[in-house]
Amino acid sequence: MIIGIDDTDSKESMCTTYLAAVLIEKLKEHGRINDYPLLIRLNPNIIYKTRGNAALAISLDLERGEDAKVVKELVIDTVRNMAVFSEENTNPGVVFIEEATEKMRAELAIFSIRAVQDVLEIEEAVEILRRHNISHKGFKNKRGLIGALAASGLALCGLPDFTYELIAYREKERWGTLRDINEESVYAADAATRPDTWDTVDHENKRVVFAPHSPDPILFGIRGNSENAVRRAFSMIKSEPVERYVVYKTNQNTDMHLMPAEINEVLDNRSYILNGKVKSAPKIISGGHVIFELEDDGKDNGAVIECAAFEPTKGFRRIIRELRPQDEVTVFGSVKDKTLNIEKININSLNIHELRNPLCCGKRMKSKGIGQGYRCEKCGSVKKEQVLETLERNISQGFYEVPPSARRHLSKPLIRYQ
Ligand code: ATP
Repeated sequence: MIIGIDDTDSKESMCTTYLAAVLIEKLKEHGRINDYPLLIRLNPNIIYKTRGNAALAISLDLERGEDAKVVKELVIDTVRNMAVFSEENTNPGVVFIEEATEKMRAELAIFSIRAVQDVLEIEEAVEILRRHNISHKGFKNKRGLIGALAASGLALCGLPDFTYELIAYREKERWGTLRDINEESVYAADAATRPDTWDTVDHENKRVVFAPHSPDPILFGIRGNSENAVRRAFSMIKSEPVERYVVYKTNQNTDMHLMPAEINEVLDNRSYILNGKVKSAPKIISGGHVIFELEDDGKDNGAVIECAAFEPTKGFRRIIRELRPQDEVTVFGSVKDKTLNIEKININSLNIHELRNPLCCGKRMKSKGIGQGYRCEKCGSVKKEQVLETLERNISQGFYEVPPSARRHLSKPLIRYQ
């Protein structure tokens, strides 16, 4: 039986992963947990999300003689008792997949990827559940069925790429208080296990980033490429008592949200990989955000999109500020209000030439007007044309990414490319 769960928490407390962690303990009395529980991040641009748009799936081999009905009731009761029903925006969904035809698998594979990349309606999930006779329970407006079906669909069909996260939870009486974590031990765990773990600390900004600041049950999460690596880091962390912990398999840090596309195909609230040329020199706007226009490379009659490195991306903005018109780049990120929020950039080629007004008497000549050449303000001499000059560039070709403190859950860090 695959159990999918979503949308149980509020900003003030709880977290669907904690509900899953508690549920796992109860389920162990009824069977064996298969593989790892799945922590799935869905489309990061969904307005209904509480925090990171997570959904969970647990795969259970029922013990011989166990009644599936009893297990389903246990799951539904746990959601009923732990979900924050008072929160308007909390609409839990639970899905149970017990058997699957090839047709159902194929449909769920597509639905689940769309839940990570696209914007879906509740009715689409309900229609699939009904048509394939999949047992489920939706509470309130039932929006959680979208995430619950997507997570269980990915548990059924498999993830094309995955990583691991060990999440440690806090004792209940500490929820909402300051987290007590020894920073030195976190730096030591990071040094001992990176590059097999990542995003534990942000070295550039000298910050521990693996612990949230919200009043939820999570103490910290360690991300890495194997159970061994995250467990090794975990064993080195000194902190307040850990109430329980779970190692999840996850689509975090895999870029599963990104779709290769042309600029003229882009829609708001989706995430893309776009190739193009820098059209205009980057501008710094109020708030310290850096923005430039990206133009497609000729295929689409000059379709253009604004790309932004927002203030929280800190030092990454220095790279973006150095871009010049005609640089060829690939940008990776989500589009909101017609602006792509850059998560990563690959600078494919740097434009090292620029047409400039000729030099004379140690200064640039002034344009006399369109098509009328250039004149030196000092000696009065005139030249017809601009000159092609070689530009000094302060950046090199290659990949650049935002720091860990600004990384989105789904973004694949460059450390995973090695
Ligand atoms: P939680 O820890 O409770 O899961 P969260 O930040 O992950 O918190 P949710 O509270 O689950 O966010 O809210 C997200 C809601 O959006 C869920 O009801 C989920 O089913 C729905 N949802 C997720 N992905 C999509 C999508 N691609 N299209 C439409 N709705 C979606």
